[in-house]
Amino acid sequence: TMTIAEIFDLTVSKFPEKEALYDVRKDLRFTYREWADEVNRLAQALHVAGVKKGDRVSTYLYNTEELATTFFACAKIGAVFNPINFRLMSEELSFIISDAEPKVFIFEETLQTAVEKVANSFPTVQFWSIDGNHPPFAKSYHEQITAVNRENVDVKLSSDDLYAIMYTSGTTGRPKGVLHRHKDMTEQSLIVIHALNYHQNDNGLVAAPMFHCAELHCAFLPRVHIGAKSTILHQFDAKKALSLIDSEKITAFFAAPTMWNMMLQEDLQAYNLSTLEKGLYGAAPMAPSLVFACREKLGVKLTQAYGMTEMGPAITFLSDEDQIRKAGSAGQACLNHEIRIVTPNDDGHSYDDQVVPTGTVGEIIVRGPSMMQGYYKREEATKKALHNGWYHSGDMGYLDDEGFLYVKDRVDDMVISGGENIYPREVEDVIHAHPSVLDVAVLGVPDEHWGEVVIAYIVKKEENITAEILDAFCKQSESLANYKRPRRYEFVDSLPRNATGKIQKFVLRNQELLQK
Ligand code: AMP
Ligand code: MG
Repeated sequence: TMTIAEIFDLTVSKFPEKEALYDVRKDLRFTYREWADEVNRLAQALHVAGVKKGDRVSTYLYNTEELATTFFACAKIGAVFNPINFRLMSEELSFIISDAEPKVFIFEETLQTAVEKVANSFPTVQFWSIDGNHPPFAKSYHEQITAVNRENVDVKLSSDDLYAIMYTSGTTGRPKGVLHRHKDMTEQSLIVIHALNYHQNDNGLVAAPMFHCAELHCAFLPRVHIGAKSTILHQFDAKKALSLIDSEKITAFFAAPTMWNMMLQEDLQAYNLSTLEKGLYGAAPMAPSLVFACREKLGVKLTQAYGMTEMGPAITFLSDEDQIRKAGSAGQACLNHEIRIVTPNDDGHSYDDQVVPTGTVGEIIVRGPSMMQGYYKREEATKKALHNGWYHSGDMGYLDDEGFLYVKDRVDDMVISGGENIYPREVEDVIHAHPSVLDVAVLGVPDEHWGEVVIAYIVKKEENITAEILDAFCKQSESLANYKRPRRYEFVDSLPRNATGKIQKFVLRNQELLQK
């Protein structure tokens, strides 16, 4: 198998003069030849900065040309690419830096405040800013790459070498670093190209966050591999996305359900969307009515992807043709994947061989060629997740007699809001720290716009505590990204607990449903 960088070089040699990238923020366009030159110079600059094979390079960036360039520069020199969620606050960021221990950390001015708070604690990390106005603790990314000559860095790599470490939220409230090899991603690209028919003449809009594997591996990377063009939008905005579909003649676009929903709210007559054909959604379930509204009003055929960071991520696809016949399904296993539904045990682990009958709900376990190598420095968690070569997803669902998967629920309490995963524990830990709170339980409730939102049940220690005070407290917290903040607080006298003292969230959930 070739490495990610070898396939990139092949594409460049095939389409040197073809437009590869359009960075909307800088209004800058690159052909494949120009982009490859930029990639090579960054690879060289990282090499000069002491980045060796296996060293980590982090990005804390919105969607930018620089993120795309860092991706391939790392792949060239065997550095392990670590794209960090730009919504994370300084303490969340600090945890990832201390876990991943990057040599170089690349950020942008808009996110500088959080970086400034942590930079001091990491004297061995080199901070590079992609913007002109960089702070004293950082160097300029663009000065680094103009300073080097244009020689290729020659590092011996194989497709078994690590390509990336991507952090995903964990049950315990601490994110875990998912490790992937080059090979995992070349397999994933094949799977995605096969399912979505990506083509060299596709114009992809990159508007979902590139740090997330859904955009990076199911849209951006496979399209670059095949020589298509990427229009990179800094931050998603429904109007901007629609006007780019019009002006750049976009054909392919991944968006989380919340994003598709936001576009539907716009005045669609104002745009020519006729070029858009390959719509993709995933990261969270999407109501069939919304899928049909997209078809009708945006004229787009939507394919659903279901998967997770650990699996690279795609494990099933539901094509546009099947959306009516199999409404509510996540589709069939993609190329080279096997899915099993097994009985979960009380403690949340399930065995690989306790397969339930067709149509019965159980834990979804899966194996396939893009599966992660494990969680970085987390032996126990890795053993649990990759039991006997099967990845245990923590998702509950069933298979029908044609092998279509239906995702129903979670084994644990994970909430998905706007496509982002949230574990209640991380929110509870923050709220617990407030001196006027005696007890807290956080859970997800259905929400029309975000899919789910987080709410908190609170037992007061001091009478004077209010929802406003707690909201302000969460807003200030450096451990809680905005999307994790509760959207509602319920004050109660006590929380329902079982005999061992564990909070019974299902009781609260039922209470919520009854109130509807
Ligand atoms: P992540 O690792 O952030 O990609 O999150 C993976 C989780 O998102 C899965 O385990 C599912 O719970 C959820 N998920 C992803 N895609 C879908 C989908 N199409 N339908 C329902 N849930 C999804
Ligand atoms: Mg997700």
